[in-house]
Amino acid sequence: MTTPPVCDYEGSDYQTSFWDKGGREYEDHTEEIALKRLLPKGGHLLLELGAGAGRNTPRYLGFERIVLLDYSRTQLEQAQERLGKSDKYVFVAADVYRLPFVDGLFDAATMIRVLHHMADAPKALGQIKNVLGSGGVFILEFANKLNLKAIVRYALGRQKWSPFTREPVEFVKLNFDFHPQTVRNWLVERGFTIEKTLTLSHFRVGFLKRIFPTSILVFLDSLFQWTGAFWQLSPSVFIRAKIQKGKQQEILDKLLLLFKCPDCGRSPLVEKGDYLECSNCKKKWGVKDGIYDFREPIVSG
Ligand SMILES: [Zn+2]
Repeated sequence: MTTPPVCDYEGSDYQTSFWDKGGREYEDHTEEIALKRLLPKGGHLLLELGAGAGRNTPRYLGFERIVLLDYSRTQLEQAQERLGKSDKYVFVAADVYRLPFVDGLFDAATMIRVLHHMADAPKALGQIKNVLGSGGVFILEFANKLNLKAIVRYALGRQKWSPFTREPVEFVKLNFDFHPQTVRNWLVERGFTIEKTLTLSHFRVGFLKRIFPTSILVFLDSLFQWTGAFWQLSPSVFIRAKIQKGKQQEILDKLLLLFKCPDCGRSPLVEKGDYLECSNCKKKWGVKDGIYDFREPIVSG
């Protein structure tokens, strides 16, 4: 199976160099505030996509169980060290383009500073939609190409790409900034309703961070976050989106948990419209006129 390239943080000291010693206290606090404003108070199961070393995980403790997913094992090992091994956390190394969860499983999902690395963002968003249950909440952060700094640089001729066009810009290999309208369209096309938008890091400017205490910038940013409902000109944008699945889809999601492949035992089977497919032995089990038929697999020809 071919999937888009993945930005792999395997062996990276990202947590230490970028967060712990990188002067990112301001960004970290603004995210803490935004998550408080957007995240449901609690729930059963939350999926944290691109959890990295678990920097944001303690902010999700209202949930009974948290699944931390990252492509890099070493990032997850750092998260284990930080959070401790407990039943509350499930650590999963996997590819966001091929999520290993059954459909309709999660009450909520978060993806912070991760879309930024996605060559095929719509594909990832489709996967996330599948694993959320009906009424599931998705908190998405993305890097905004239409930010004030990019607009000024473009106007002065110091930046080649236009911040106003709708396509993503890959300014460094596997680092993308997105137009807010494009991200909204992707979500809506996949059945999400956008409930809230906050803008963050309005004051991510070197000299401001040197002059003013972090607490003041964080406070000002927390006020400015609400303007995200009207316009988005900051480098970082948070969206809270909700998925409502039809009753039919919800029942189908749950129904798939009932079945396993009668030949090899693999579960769950994958819904393919007029058949269910076994991801292991590739056999196809027919669904015709409302009858699941496990007598003989469909012979494709
Ligand atoms: Zn099978």
